[in-house]
Amino acid sequence: MQWYIVTKSPLRVGVGKEPPLGSLVELAVVRIKLQGKSVPYIPGSSLKGVFRSIAMQLAKQKGLKVCQGVGKETCMQLITVEGSSLGEYLESLLKKGNSYEAIKVFSENACLLCKIFGAPGLSSHVTFTDAYPVDNNGNVVEVPLGVRTGIAIDRRTGAVYERALYQVEYIEPGARFRTMVLATNLPNYAIGVLAKALMLINEGYMRIGCFKTRGFGEVGIEDLELKIKGKNEGAKLLGLDNVDIEVDLTDCTEISGTWLIARGVNAWKCLNKFEKVWDSVKFT
Ligand SMILES: [Zn+2]
Repeated sequence: MQWYIVTKSPLRVGVGKEPPLGSLVELAVVRIKLQGKSVPYIPGSSLKGVFRSIAMQLAKQKGLKVCQGVGKETCMQLITVEGSSLGEYLESLLKKGNSYEAIKVFSENACLLCKIFGAPGLSSHVTFTDAYPVDNNGNVVEVPLGVRTGIAIDRRTGAVYERALYQVEYIEPGARFRTMVLATNLPNYAIGVLAKALMLINEGYMRIGCFKTRGFGEVGIEDLELKIKGKNEGAKLLGLDNVDIEVDLTDCTEISGTWLIARGVNAWKCLNKFEKVWDSVKFT
């Protein structure tokens, strides 16, 4: 699955957190060296974080118990299997070379989000590539940047710090970043939760990056393209587990060798079908 992220409002993706209160900082946007130029980009890890947090809200709406996925608040620490934490238990299985059993124990115990997005020490089923400012031919394009001055305010007293001005660099509206998501071996409902997250971002219900409460981070999704490979029956994607539901993509994809391909309107139509699976799947 690939698409362009197009900024509709100022966007700032920080590596860390928002500027610490009371400090005079000048924050530049994250950059990477590409084709000999230093250009702004959106790290894949940031995008993955956005999708995970939207998926967390969607999973909670469905009544699923899911972990926070950060620090000590992950299934690896929170779940106990035979007296040790899930993480330690899996590690001991892997040390014995028992990877089949480890995968089984993980899928029986970890929450849906850990299964989709991975957990520390385990690979995930989805990979978000870094989003680069390139055109369809892969050539770097100019990114419009701006700088805004912020004022650090003490949240308790409301008083403005002395010398509390800081300058923040951001990406202006109209910038385009190409990115790709690679998903392997995901049930249709899991693709559905990713599809729903993408729609929420595109429709402006979810924002990305910092300063979201100040109007930053609204983006649109353009030139969506979907490529699916696997054991399909024609354009039907069978359910992968006992709660999953089959998806029929016959009227929105073309078959090209072993691939199913959908672009633009058809790609959104496909995502709609996956979204419906997510909406109707029942976890017991
Ligand atoms: Zn989890």
